Amino acid sequence: MGRLVILGGGESGIGTALLGKEKGYDVFVSDKGKIKEKYKQVLIHNEIEWEEEKHSEGKILNADVVMKSPGIPDKVPLVKQIRDKGILVVSEIEFASKFTQATIVGITGSNGKTTTASLAHHILKQELNVGLAGNIGDSFAKQVLEEGFENYVLEISSFQLDDIVDFKPHIGVITNITPDHLDRYDYQFEKYIASKFRIAMNQTKDDYLIYDADDEVIVNYLENNPVQSTLLPFSLTKQVENGAYLDDNKIIITINTNQIIMPTTNLTLEGKHNVKNAMAASTVSHLLRIRKQTIRESLESFQGVEHRLEQVLKINKVQYINDSKATNVNATYYALESMDAPTVWIVGGEDKGNNYEELFSFVNEKVKAIICLGVDNDKLMKTFGGMVDFIIETQFMSEAVKIAYKLTEAGDNVLLSPACASFDLFESYEDRGRQFKDAVRNL
Ligand code: ADP
Repeated sequence: MGRLVILGGGESGIGTALLGKEKGYDVFVSDKGKIKEKYKQVLIHNEIEWEEEKHSEGKILNADVVMKSPGIPDKVPLVKQIRDKGILVVSEIEFASKFTQATIVGITGSNGKTTTASLAHHILKQELNVGLAGNIGDSFAKQVLEEGFENYVLEISSFQLDDIVDFKPHIGVITNITPDHLDRYDYQFEKYIASKFRIAMNQTKDDYLIYDADDEVIVNYLENNPVQSTLLPFSLTKQVENGAYLDDNKIIITINTNQIIMPTTNLTLEGKHNVKNAMAASTVSHLLRIRKQTIRESLESFQGVEHRLEQVLKINKVQYINDSKATNVNATYYALESMDAPTVWIVGGEDKGNNYEELFSFVNEKVKAIICLGVDNDKLMKTFGGMVDFIIETQFMSEAVKIAYKLTEAGDNVLLSPACASFDLFESYEDRGRQFKDAVRNL
């Protein structure tokens, strides 16, 4: 089959290595950093050659195909060298999809990917043989090798889409598009938008693209760059002929003449954004012929995903909410919007050039105090200083939670929704969320 070089020994790299080896490739894994022990054991056990803390050009530039981990930017000189030599560079989803005939649902967007993919999987698994992969859980390649599902729901980042060639989901979803990760796109929003739309690039009219019709970025792009796919928009504000919309408190999903109606009171997830996520996931399920009753019941039984508006505990009638995954302003916008009580808001971290203006009206209306939690809190203190009665900064989660506890009274919320990356004080957003939950439980 030729030589497969894998750059990056993480979950997608190891999965691709195993699949490549099984398919007869001569596989080599190279990681500039350290490879986790558990992955090394897998490589050794499967007699796959690897290296860490270096990239040996001699062993890489002779590849027939390179699978690049989504974390590695194109600007890296080695990647340039590989491309200059005319070697094909692909992402894991491109490589693995060649080895499965399964029906693929591909979900991308700036926010809501994990929630929508998990919800769609939760509904589909009631009646179909279906895997959940991509940025979630076990790698797609590994599942193609070991599980052989008939259907997959894939959460797909723009980085994965950048390196597809033939990959085509039968059903694509774009949840929304707001500026994020622009450092990887020469700070040009247009490039990031185009990257998200690669989800539809190989689709034909027999495939579907489900998207947020209230999102002007998406709608404008589609107007100027029509796709082949059959379009199924969803909207909270306007009626659509085919697709999903809201009528009072009912979600109406129509595909051709086949309709389902679901009361939004059935949804366990809070917030308008989650109504959108539910519309997208239900439209996917309706397309794959899941029974209406199953969709309704599954929406009721879905418990949400950790670190996304996760209800942690109620202490003295104060609700503590972990939204640590809100690593950009748009995610926090929906978190604040969904607050139905005076809120103590814990915000901050590594700023990505944030513009907080869109949050001002919610802050005025709902936020009683702000706790800034980051190494550098200056921008937040300046931006929100005049807006709330109480604002304070700290660099410790336990302290942030203790201060929040003191500031609340019965009926209030404490919301961790940072609008920033976590890497200044924490290992990851998961680490930040767990520390929050531990601190709340220790109160
Ligand atoms: P992703 O996988 O795209 O990062 P998640 O489902 O993990 O998305 O959610 C990330 C953050 O965005 C969470 O704070 C969540 O509450 C918020 N969020 C979820 N769905 C949406 C949506 N449709 N629009 C905006 N924000 C959302």
